[in-house]
Amino acid sequence: MAGNIWVVADQWQGRLTDITFEALALGREVADAFKVPLEAVLLGHGCASLAEELGCADNVIYAEHPALAEPVPETHARALAELAQQRQPRAIVIPATNTNWGANTLLAAQLGVPGLNFVVDLKAVDGALEARCVLYGGKIQVRVQPRKEPAVIGLWPGARPADQGRSERKPSVEQAPVSLAAEPKVRLKRYIEPEAGEVDLTRQDILVAVGRGIQSKDNLELAEELARALGGEICGSRPVVDQGWLPLSRQIGKSGLTVKPKLYLALGISGAPEHVEGMKGSSLIVAVNTDPQAPIFNIAHYGVVADALELAPALAEAVRARKG
Ligand SMILES: Cc1cc2nc3c(=O)[nH]c(=O)nc-3n(C[C@H](O)[C@H](O)[C@H](O)COP(=O)(O)OP(=O)(O)OC[C@H]3O[C@@H](n4cnc5c(N)ncnc54)[C@H](O)[C@@H]3O)c2cc1C
Repeated sequence: MAGNIWVVADQWQGRLTDITFEALALGREVADAFKVPLEAVLLGHGCASLAEELGCADNVIYAEHPALAEPVPETHARALAELAQQRQPRAIVIPATNTNWGANTLLAAQLGVPGLNFVVDLKAVDGALEARCVLYGGKIQVRVQPRKEPAVIGLWPGARPADQGRSERKPSVEQAPVSLAAEPKVRLKRYIEPEAGEVDLTRQDILVAVGRGIQSKDNLELAEELARALGGEICGSRPVVDQGWLPLSRQIGKSGLTVKPKLYLALGISGAPEHVEGMKGSSLIVAVNTDPQAPIFNIAHYGVVADALELAPALAEAVRARKG
């Protein structure tokens, strides 16, 4: 139906990702404000059962096609363009993830409509859609009112808590055929799996993160010891990875992972916007830094002005003593 709010479901290897539910929570607010239905758009092949998890939406539009089995942005953008031309939604919210990065820009270009990237909030203001976008890694924020519909919204992680977008309700599901007639210009050749033995940091409850303040590769052991005592995993900022002290699979931030552990303990990390982007959704942030003016303290729930090289072993010892 014309004017509805759409949220495109993001999935990876048969599972809906958290940001899908964050987007649904946000979409619900916007749809309610405009008094229009919220629709989830599920693109894929043989994944109809995922629709049942999208109950926060009033309706699921399920487009099934073999070409949609893999997350190729060009193909997904073409499928969405077909659907949008038939149904004329007001806004199409697309989670900005590694799997569909680019689909929003391609879609906006195909439809000749505004495409907004790095959107962290979306609202109805005086009867119009208004998006808040972050630029330059969060240093600048802008409010944008797209003047043409549908607005294509590239949604950044963390806009709303994912749990707010989950629902036990079973939505109505509508099959929507897409032709995808033209040959795709891009084809996915293969996945490169992370090295065997690597942990999935996005699923850890406790992360001990090291920054340049750790000073040398040898000192990593102090953080690893603390992570072991706490029952967590170690990760780091980009300079630590760039220097080869930790593998890329352990980098947190804009060009690394986005994590939301129960505890994020940052040792010697300044809190640059590119790093904060990947960990600001953590439930509890504890920062240790020798500089009381370090920006990390602006987002930390607890801050310790101390030398991480002294504090880490003392803390590990205290945790071990407490655990007996
Ligand atoms: C396009 C782009 C993408 C980027 N992507 C990422 C990304 O994904 N992840 C990321 O992390 N960065 C990323 N960056 C880099 C980012 O801008 C910062 O340079 C980086 O996050 C800084 O890392 P840091 O905090 O470890 O180092 P620094 O900024 O050098 O901070 C080190 C901190 O350690 C403190 N310190 C020093 N000694 C001690 C000690 N003994 N004990 C306690 N504290 C101490 C200092 O006071 C300082 O605050 C990106 C940059 C760009 C331009």
